[in-house]
Amino acid sequence: MKEQLRLLPAVHMIQADPRFKMAAEESDFTESGLTVIVQDILNDLRERILNGEYVGCETKEKMIDLIFQKIGDHITTNGSFELKPVINATGVVIHTNLGRSRLSEDALKQMNRVARHYSNLEYNLSEGKRGSRHDLVDGLLQDITGAEAAMVVNNNAAAVFLVLRALAKDRSVVVSRGELVEIGGSFRVSSIMEESGAHLTEVGTTNKTHLHDYDAAIDEWTAMLMKVHTSNFKVVGFTDSVQTEKLVELASRYENLLTYEDLGSGALYDFEKEGIGDEPLVSKVIATGVDLITFSGDKLLGGPQCGVIAGKKALIDKLKKHQLARVLRVDKFTLAALEATLVAYKYGQIDEIPTVRDILRSAEDIKIQAERFISKASKLTNLSMDLLESTSRIGGGTMPEVELPTYVVSVRPERLTSEELFNALRSAEIPVIGRIKEEQVILDLRTVTQEEEDEIIRTLESISV
Ligand SMILES: *Cc1c(COP(=O)(O)O)cnc(C)c1O
Repeated sequence: MKEQLRLLPAVHMIQADPRFKMAAEESDFTESGLTVIVQDILNDLRERILNGEYVGCETKEKMIDLIFQKIGDHITTNGSFELKPVINATGVVIHTNLGRSRLSEDALKQMNRVARHYSNLEYNLSEGKRGSRHDLVDGLLQDITGAEAAMVVNNNAAAVFLVLRALAKDRSVVVSRGELVEIGGSFRVSSIMEESGAHLTEVGTTNKTHLHDYDAAIDEWTAMLMKVHTSNFKVVGFTDSVQTEKLVELASRYENLLTYEDLGSGALYDFEKEGIGDEPLVSKVIATGVDLITFSGDKLLGGPQCGVIAGKKALIDKLKKHQLARVLRVDKFTLAALEATLVAYKYGQIDEIPTVRDILRSAEDIKIQAERFISKASKLTNLSMDLLESTSRIGGGTMPEVELPTYVVSVRPERLTSEELFNALRSAEIPVIGRIKEEQVILDLRTVTQEEEDEIIRTLESISV
């Protein structure tokens, strides 16, 4: 019995084991939460040994293994939140069903600091009086986009709604028929317009709309000319649409006629320069002189869910004062994460933004990772793996025609069907989401970090394939 008691490790020995840190990172428990669990496990073992029970370990290593097994069991039975991390092995970078963008380390740190402490969310520190949350990222957005002013609301749908409601209610908004899009099954330009109380005036046809179509539709009820970026589809063939510059020029011939463009994705980085798609750069659109633009925070920008409205100061000021701005306002965590993400843009540290980094990853880089993955997995029996050339999509209704060259790992189980393996991966403690193609499970590591890569191996190991 004494022998067995001596084999019980001290808590700090468990804490120093790399498996402890890993368990904290990968479970819903913090390190201090896990320490409490470790203490419970040690107390329980001590009690059992004192009761004369043999716990089945002859060496200290075995005892430590047993403790980690018990920690694992505890996590499995007690630590499951409804909303939890998953590993995105689809290669779709902005996967709306999987939470769109991952945040940068700096954004996470900023959110954490703002959550842990009180903050100057609505307190002007230089004047010692009430401030506005709308002003916190206004300056950064001005620097990056070149706009006179900017504000942030709950998401881009909210941004569109606020612009239409506050500036075009009971008046008409002219939109090209080629731009009356539906995005993600729930955002429809025509429906949001109706909800906002603005009246839609459709002009042109699905494939062609000319400047004179807009001109002919303008009357005393017209509040604005609106352009919508057709994010998630492309009309090919004989098409024609009117450039933002032309609309701005047309609107300037009338009094109090606004121009507004809903950009959707909102690229702050010039992907086109890298040969990826033709997404308009936000700063270039602002430079056309357009009165207002809106775009998402968690699509190409790679920040938290939010919607940015940028443009002329007088209009932004009006929007900030609107009652709806209060209804649609963002919380401090969103502002913290957005600010940190924008700072990375300002200083050109775009590699720190996971969404941008993953879109820019070269096929060569992914190939190296995939080869490493396959060699690590070679110890697994009953599975065969191959490296295949393929393409990844950007997702989030962004640049639908773009295919990013990649290498994928095709996994073929010997005992299970590919469907069974796919389901087992999805049901793992940290679910792994891949796709099935022709009796293989396909894993695209474009969106998988090195730590996640090891987790996938562990998961494959634990599924008896
Ligand atoms: C994605 C998108 C929206 C909706 O943005 P959310 O941030 O998802 O609310 C609106 N308009 C366009 C053109 C889009 O691409």
